[in-house]
Amino acid sequence: MSNQKKQVVIIGSGPAGHAAAIYTARARLEPLMFEGSMAGGVAAGGQLTTTTEVENYPGYSHISGPELMIKMREQAIQCGTEIITRTIDKIDIKEDCIMVYDGDRIIEAKSVIIATGATAKRLNIKGEETYWQKGMSACAVCDGGLPIFRDKPLAVIGGGDSAAEEATYLTKFASKVYLLVRKDTLRASKVMQERVMENDKIDVLWNTEALEAKGDNVLTTLTITNNKTSQITEIAVNGLFYAIGHKPNTDFLDGQLNLDESGYIVTVPGSTKTNKHGVFACGDVQDKIYRQAITAAGSGCMAALDAEKYLAGH
Ligand code: FAD
Ligand code: NDP
Repeated sequence: MSNQKKQVVIIGSGPAGHAAAIYTARARLEPLMFEGSMAGGVAAGGQLTTTTEVENYPGYSHISGPELMIKMREQAIQCGTEIITRTIDKIDIKEDCIMVYDGDRIIEAKSVIIATGATAKRLNIKGEETYWQKGMSACAVCDGGLPIFRDKPLAVIGGGDSAAEEATYLTKFASKVYLLVRKDTLRASKVMQERVMENDKIDVLWNTEALEAKGDNVLTTLTITNNKTSQITEIAVNGLFYAIGHKPNTDFLDGQLNLDESGYIVTVPGSTKTNKHGVFACGDVQDKIYRQAITAAGSGCMAALDAEKYLAGH
């Protein structure tokens, strides 16, 4: 095995990873990025490569997700980032360096920025492949404002804070929002539950699960079942949003960093520092609240500045 020494290795290639790359490259730290190869089921470039229009990234009133990520990648390279299209399966965090295993070579990094994101969970119901991004999405805050959803009946699946928040958010645009909850209670916090129950536009369907998405070019109908009575019905909806949780891409850490109960990396509040010296985390892999491209990019910048300061002190 050959060894290479690096000041900074960035693992992950969404907005957080590329922002970290741009800043560390401009700080002349010659960052090496592993952008992943369908890591977590998502192409290099991250979650935005799975969407169509992005309308809320400052500076771009209208750009496709993949195009925005190509621009970020180009900028990172222009600034001096080396990018390798490979998924990292193993790192070894030592006292004074981090060993990053890349196939037949080992990178000995003084600092590592983890920007591996999170993957929205999906249900894989019948019709999902056909209507994904044609009415179906895993991000109401991102896609809910699109013209195809205006004044239309929509549905959200889930019973947690995300589902409650997204259902409430969608009432700004929708004619009506069905909230499909598989149990007879919401897991969401009290305040979010109250917001849901007090909103006339939200119709909570308890003990309800989705079976099939149907439509023509776009989604128009959802087949649902009551899991108590087994009754099957159809509801007319033009949008269906999954809010059934995310899985942070942290398996490769093999328990070396502090994670919360859902597997997200725990960072020191107000910074991107983890519990290990020289290891920083940014973007959705450490954020289960905001989960937006701009917040991911912002924390990528923070990670670069934290890493730069750490390296200056070592
Ligand atoms: P991600 O974008 O998740 O990228 C992480 C990358 O790291 C991935 O490419 C992954 O393959 C790679 N990776 C993972 N593990 C490894 C590994 N072990 N080795 C190497 N690479 C690895 N936000 C908005 O602001 N506006 C929107 O309009 C919007 N629309 C969205 C639409 C959809 C359908 C979805 C799912 C999300 C949307 N978001 C939107 C949210 C936004 O995409 C995320 O908040 C953002 O991409 C998070 O960035 P990130 O850099 O943390 O990680
Ligand atoms: P959660 O894991 O909290 O909730 C997921 C929900 O999806 C649960 O109600 C679960 O049902 C349901 N679900 C899971 N799998 C399925 C399935 N196969 N079919 C149907 N329903 C399913 O995820 P969230 O994204 O809601 O929240 C994650 C974390 O982020 C939480 O800690 C939350 O508090 C926090 N958060 C906070 C916000 C805020 O404070 N404003 C906003 C958003 C998130 P069941 O209950 O039956 O298990």
